[in-house]
Amino acid sequence: MFEKVIKNAQLPFQKDLLNIGIIDGVIASISTEQLIGKEEFDLDGNLLMPPFIEMHTHLDTVLTAGESTSNNSGTLSEAIEIWLKLKQSLREDDVKKRATAAIKMLMEYGVLHIRAAVDISDPNLTALTALLDLKKQLQPFVDLQVIAFPQDGLISCSANRERLIEAVKRGADAVSAVPHLEYTREDGVKSLEFAFSVAKEYGKDVHIFCDETDDEHSRFLEVVASITIKEQMEGRVAASHANALLYYSDAYAQKVMSLVKKAKLTIVCCPLINSTMQARMDAHPKGRGITRIKELTEEGINVCIAHDDIQTPFYPFGNGNILQAAHMAIHLAHMTGSEELTHIYHMITSNGADAFSIKETYGIKIGLPATFVSFPVKNIRDLFFRQPKCRYVFKNGEVLIETEPEKTKWTQSMI
Ligand SMILES: [Zn+2]
Repeated sequence: MFEKVIKNAQLPFQKDLLNIGIIDGVIASISTEQLIGKEEFDLDGNLLMPPFIEMHTHLDTVLTAGESTSNNSGTLSEAIEIWLKLKQSLREDDVKKRATAAIKMLMEYGVLHIRAAVDISDPNLTALTALLDLKKQLQPFVDLQVIAFPQDGLISCSANRERLIEAVKRGADAVSAVPHLEYTREDGVKSLEFAFSVAKEYGKDVHIFCDETDDEHSRFLEVVASITIKEQMEGRVAASHANALLYYSDAYAQKVMSLVKKAKLTIVCCPLINSTMQARMDAHPKGRGITRIKELTEEGINVCIAHDDIQTPFYPFGNGNILQAAHMAIHLAHMTGSEELTHIYHMITSNGADAFSIKETYGIKIGLPATFVSFPVKNIRDLFFRQPKCRYVFKNGEVLIETEPEKTKWTQSMI
């Protein structure tokens, strides 16, 4: 007899419904045969899958959108200006409160691994202190990675170089840079060299905010790939956004993508914010905003989709539902075929597992922790268009979150 049995689960891409037996928080059996448990959950053919991996969000800026923080131009530069004012008066308790609320929103939609960039352009490192504390406090429930992110640059804002090192010493999981926001191209390259040197010295991963612009002359992705190869950091580097890649000539884009593949970079696309913030200055026809995720995938490059901002001056919407981001990507990248939907599914699940160093323990297999999520849908296509909350979130064999399915009742007959 098992402690718990999940009955009639539809695992992604499996033909038969499966029953899962759990002992001591671990998956002890997966079978088409009936299993008996002290406690049983009948999913009735609904989807059961590993939790989502959110590869790029911000928990310091989160839930600050409002009338007084409205970004009226919708541009990155206005968002940065508004945030610059807000961050002067950050308090640890306020950061923790907003971050916890956002983490709960993400978790209710099935995200159990969160990579959050924290702006370190603050002499007191208030947000960093709050989020490193929260990371420890919430560790039994959610896997939180903190990225030291110098929003104001590493060369343009020279004090950020010391702060980056300090952040790493305090426990940040990875270092970042924003080369396209440095004053000059040369400074952008220097900022990357500095970020990589810190990562190398302290044994950390790198996650660059790269080419988040519609400027075809923003060519930092090739620099990120090139330094990764030189420093032998293949597989430990991610680059978010990479919007300029969309505007490169096909010949140059092909060269860059080959280099990205060689460097084993993970490209993180943030379709919600990218689609609203990019192409603001384009004449018609306007760019679609997101990078070339279809071509990157065809090239065999590891691509992830992330929710990114949740109600901030950078992006005023978002409710923690990463499926909204996936849905947006499906449309903007023209990835509606069934094989393409499979790719999109991997972009919010297993493709992030490497970056999180959880590849060995991620998935639904015998011997792995019984950590998974179920949705009130029968397949991946339904999941993408309905975008529901999780029916159950299981963490190490225990139900952590339960959401009653929505019910609609007609009180009159129309015909
Ligand atoms: Zn972001």
